[in-house]
Amino acid sequence: MAMHNGITPDRTAVVLAVHAERLHDDRVWNRVRRIAGWMQRRGLSATFFTYPFRAQMVGRAIGDRVQEIAASGHEIAQHTHFYAGAATEKPLCRDDLGENNVVSCLRRDSASLSQMGCRPRGFTAGAWRVNEGMYRELIELGFSYDCSSRLYTGQTPAAELNRIWLREPKLRQVRNGRVLCLPSTCSSDNGSNGHGRFGPKDRCRTS
Ligand SMILES: [Zn+2]
Repeated sequence: MAMHNGITPDRTAVVLAVHAERLHDDRVWNRVRRIAGWMQRRGLSATFFTYPFRAQMVGRAIGDRVQEIAASGHEIAQHTHFYAGAATEKPLCRDDLGENNVVSCLRRDSASLSQMGCRPRGFTAGAWRVNEGMYRELIELGFSYDCSSRLYTGQTPAAELNRIWLREPKLRQVRNGRVLCLPSTCSSDNGSNGHGRFGPKDRCRTS
């Protein structure tokens, strides 16, 4: 099997990764719980990229929900939007990818998930927006992989600031270490965001 960037691709492996944006919303939670249990009964597991800050902003605790997903054999990873201040909803929210904000958002959400008993090792950025400082801080916090890039499928994407397209998994080298970047293959409006039916939003393939 060929080696690329020090990674051996396994062409049979497909990793299901779900952006769990609104676990505090009971409608979303009921659907997430149902599918997490459905997968558990079939011996399947997924990664739920959980954004704890949105729940905190509406005063809802999601620790028991996060722990229940983890107890079903699924991975809890971290999803963070780099919004400025406390606004997490449109039209008020505004991205701030300045270093101070990126570091503080990453630390805040990592600490929240760790306090729930699920120290995250995987990450995906809100709106797939990344920068070098983000990768440095992920390494500082002990993350091992990132799903913020998307899989390049042959159509040249328009130039997008702070977004990355990859043909395959890649070890990204930054000043203080390396992080494994696993590109997502797709995105759907029918994710677990409370606006549509529950469904897998992203799939990260290792090939
Ligand atoms: Zn998001």
